[in-house]
Amino acid sequence: MDRIDNSRFVASHIKGLPRSGIRDFFAIVSEMENAISLGIGEPDFATPWSIREAAIFALEKKKTSYTDNRGLLLLRCTIVAYLEKVFSLSYQPENEVLVTVGVSEAMDIALRATVNPGDKVLYHQPCYVSYSPSIQMVHGIGVPIPTDATDGFALKLEALEKAWDSNCRVLILNFPTNPTGGVVTLLELEKIARFAQEKDLLVISDEIYAELTYEGEHQSIAALPGMKDRTIFLHGFSKAYAMTGFRIGYAAGSKELIEAMMKVHQYCMMCAPILSQEAAVEAFKNGQPEAQKMKEQYHHRRDYLVGRFNKMGLDCSLPKATFYAFPSVKKTGMNETEFAKCVLKEAEVAVVPGTAFGEDGAGFVRASFATSYHKLIEATDRIESFIGKNSLIE
Ligand code: PLP
Repeated sequence: MDRIDNSRFVASHIKGLPRSGIRDFFAIVSEMENAISLGIGEPDFATPWSIREAAIFALEKKKTSYTDNRGLLLLRCTIVAYLEKVFSLSYQPENEVLVTVGVSEAMDIALRATVNPGDKVLYHQPCYVSYSPSIQMVHGIGVPIPTDATDGFALKLEALEKAWDSNCRVLILNFPTNPTGGVVTLLELEKIARFAQEKDLLVISDEIYAELTYEGEHQSIAALPGMKDRTIFLHGFSKAYAMTGFRIGYAAGSKELIEAMMKVHQYCMMCAPILSQEAAVEAFKNGQPEAQKMKEQYHHRRDYLVGRFNKMGLDCSLPKATFYAFPSVKKTGMNETEFAKCVLKEAEVAVVPGTAFGEDGAGFVRASFATSYHKLIEATDRIESFIGKNSLIE
């Protein structure tokens, strides 16, 4: 029997969404036995044992129920204490914190709770792959703000001013930034904060890589004068604690905004999984030494990887945070997609073309150093001989 084409039932704004360039690329990689992937943005470490054990213990204690929609009170109190200590931010656990299914859900419901159809949402580019589709899914209009390699892809006030118009209501920030590993100086952040106040913008600040800052101190925009009430602060456990599969994150903000997000959350998600919430409490309680060890490993790998890229002629600035390097491939004469395809085919190393993160990533590729040191040695050896064999760089 002929299959009926059901695509007519797919909503038109979903039909128009692009598939993630990263996923398609890595479906190919997974079929290649010998390939080394510097692609997916996921820690290569297993979640520290005490955190895994806390989840197992919770299961043994028959903790298998729903929780409060906002998340376990103990977890919210622990989050509040952590934000106070590390970010100098103070929130009320009762109504200013919401535990979510990763930062992914937190971003989605923050947008769903605040964006009216047709509202414009600013975000700096290159950026995490989900921002633009998430805006489209709430019928908002995404406004990418270009950033430039010569400024280390930092968001500049002038570019923000140029991208803004009176229909812009929300500004998404991601410092430290995926995919560039960039951060922002306090001076620039203060300028951005003043602009947000002047233009009455709501800021959604995704700070998921804050703990993986190697140079200087991370500064949240929410902690700057006048910013706490107009910022929805998003954070989670996926990166710093290697807990991607636990799917746990949180949002903090004013009670009106958290209440609005809570409404969306309770109808679409109910609550974050209880076992993951129990594990997250343990991450805060005893997870720091293990998290610190992983960070030291990333730091060490970063220095090696960036050094090797520069030595082989792929200009790469030192990422101040995250576990991503963002080298330029311009000197090879190839564009980023050609380079990524060829290096995968000929050297069996997977990197992500910079344009997967928006057009401002043209000429660059993202290489993750959430990959073991010995694999980084092998991967860079292979890339170097691929460049040499094809005489790509003089
Ligand atoms: N935000 C950024 C900038 C990311 O890079 C990622 C994952 O790569 C996420 C959010 C999603 O994080 P989570 O696992 O908490 O949903």
